[in-house]
Amino acid sequence: MDLNEIRKRFSPPKPQFSAAIDTSSSAQVSRPMISFSFIAANVTKTFAVLLIVLPVLVTFSVIYHNPHSDHRISSPFVEARVLDPKSSVVTWQSFEPLNATTEHVEEADNKLLGGLLSSGFDEGSCLSRYQSFLYRKVSPFKPSTYLLSKLRKYEELHKRCGPGTQAYNDAVKQLKSGSETAVPTECNYVVWISYSGLGNRILTVSAAFLYALLSNRVLLIDPGTDMTDLFCEPFPSTSWFLPQDFPLNNQFKSFHQKSPRCHGFMLKKNLLNSSRDEEVPPYLYLHLGHDYNDQDKLFFCDDDQTLLGKVPWLVMRTDNYFAPSLYLIPSFEQELFKLFTEKVTIFHHLGRYLLHPTNQVWGLITRYYNAYMARADERIGIQIRTFEEGAGPFPHVTDQILSCISKEKLLPEINKNDSSSSLSKNARAIAVLITSLDAGYCETLKELYWEHPTVTGEVVGFYQPSHEGFQQSHKMMHNRKAWAEMYLLSLNDKLVTSAWSTFGYVAQGLGGLKPWILYKPEDKKTPDPACVRAMSIEPCFHSPPFWDCKAKTGVDTGKLVPHVRHCEDISWGLKVVDGHEEL
Ligand code: GDP
Repeated sequence: MDLNEIRKRFSPPKPQFSAAIDTSSSAQVSRPMISFSFIAANVTKTFAVLLIVLPVLVTFSVIYHNPHSDHRISSPFVEARVLDPKSSVVTWQSFEPLNATTEHVEEADNKLLGGLLSSGFDEGSCLSRYQSFLYRKVSPFKPSTYLLSKLRKYEELHKRCGPGTQAYNDAVKQLKSGSETAVPTECNYVVWISYSGLGNRILTVSAAFLYALLSNRVLLIDPGTDMTDLFCEPFPSTSWFLPQDFPLNNQFKSFHQKSPRCHGFMLKKNLLNSSRDEEVPPYLYLHLGHDYNDQDKLFFCDDDQTLLGKVPWLVMRTDNYFAPSLYLIPSFEQELFKLFTEKVTIFHHLGRYLLHPTNQVWGLITRYYNAYMARADERIGIQIRTFEEGAGPFPHVTDQILSCISKEKLLPEINKNDSSSSLSKNARAIAVLITSLDAGYCETLKELYWEHPTVTGEVVGFYQPSHEGFQQSHKMMHNRKAWAEMYLLSLNDKLVTSAWSTFGYVAQGLGGLKPWILYKPEDKKTPDPACVRAMSIEPCFHSPPFWDCKAKTGVDTGKLVPHVRHCEDISWGLKVVDGHEEL
């Protein structure tokens, strides 16, 4: 049974807002004309009644349509969208209730995500930027005013230093000249190389942007094969994409740990020394991938940051969300405290600020959401990612999912002894969005909840947008679907994710959701317990350094400060938590 069917069968008729207005106005029209003062008095009375009744009716109508108290349904704009699903852009002014000034201000604030986004972008070229608030709950995490002012200053910097500007051309000249030593430039840059799966890329580009904010650099990104197809420009009146004629473009693929300009390699060969005040090259390659060595890891030491600060161009390749370790660099720590007063919101805010799906991806997201998720009373996302040999679905993973949702009471239990209909007319509808490369898990759950009623009488629908079989990162539509699915997962009220997966981290971070994480199975056995509630909404840094830069000795970096702890799903990983827990 799908949700539309459920709705048709069990939904009470919608309150007729326009009919209510018609009734009262026709009653007024049918009154006999007695005198001007009588009419004037009645018109005034009617107007006064309308002034009171209309907003009340609108409010009731909105609540009646959807009982959640989140933004998605409490705005008249949303009401307009629901009433006319064919229309992709609806101007909400035409549906606004009377006396809506405060709502106006609130709407405008929500539309700009609490001030994270700048106004003034062309809306049509990137619909998701200003429409995302229609699909998301208002974030419980407010960005700090310090972060907002830092972002505005960064936008100015990017406009002054971005591709095509004099400052950019001057900085690029040094790269073209082949000079061995850098001369100071007006602007310094961090270049992000497109590398790894899409979830990894979304996290690493956000970490690179954080580094740019902390080190006062301009972030430019390698468009790779698909970045322009997936993401809108995030900064006003400029571009974050490297131009095609950027002099190092054709070297990106060949950069590795032994490249002559690799930061770690130069340190190893004593060609760079952070303790000497010496000349630096115009660019350095930072190898921050999961396979980086002890020298590459010195990136996370203050002394090396001082040295790197003199290098105009830093070119970075990473598949790691390295933000947690930036907290362990003393020169960045205080700034991070000021930027993120709620420490766990780094990716939540930066991801929402930076990563706007292009119109093609937004179409995938909104069509799916409106067709399968919009009308449910509750939405639950389950992300299933397996890292096992062989073809799925794996029975031990199916058992694990069932065990997690049952123990954590994420879905109502089914009554296995009953297959009759026990649905009430107003049965609550729960929509479960499943993402997986495999179709099997969704099919099993769907069948179970079709064959048996729930003990609560609620109806549960399972929806899976795609089952691509295996990772096909070279294909454009495959990546669009992957991005759309991460985004759709983030729109749920509750989330279950798979251990080790950046795909799930993206969803939890954008959604501001603390997921239940399905432990990684070992030896094809169902883990017990099956899942654990995440400590925070932040992603995990899978391969952090374990080095005390001052003492020059190994140290457990997950035990140094209360706000950087080991991850739930990877015991050696690091993640940012709110820091209230005892170490
Ligand atoms: P991770 O490997 O789980 O950390 O996530 P990544 O996103 O970095 O890489 C996995 C890639 O496999 C994705 O980017 C997709 O290309 C593909 N993939 C994995 N799971 C799914 C899924 O549930 N849906 C879709 N559409 N693609 C998936």
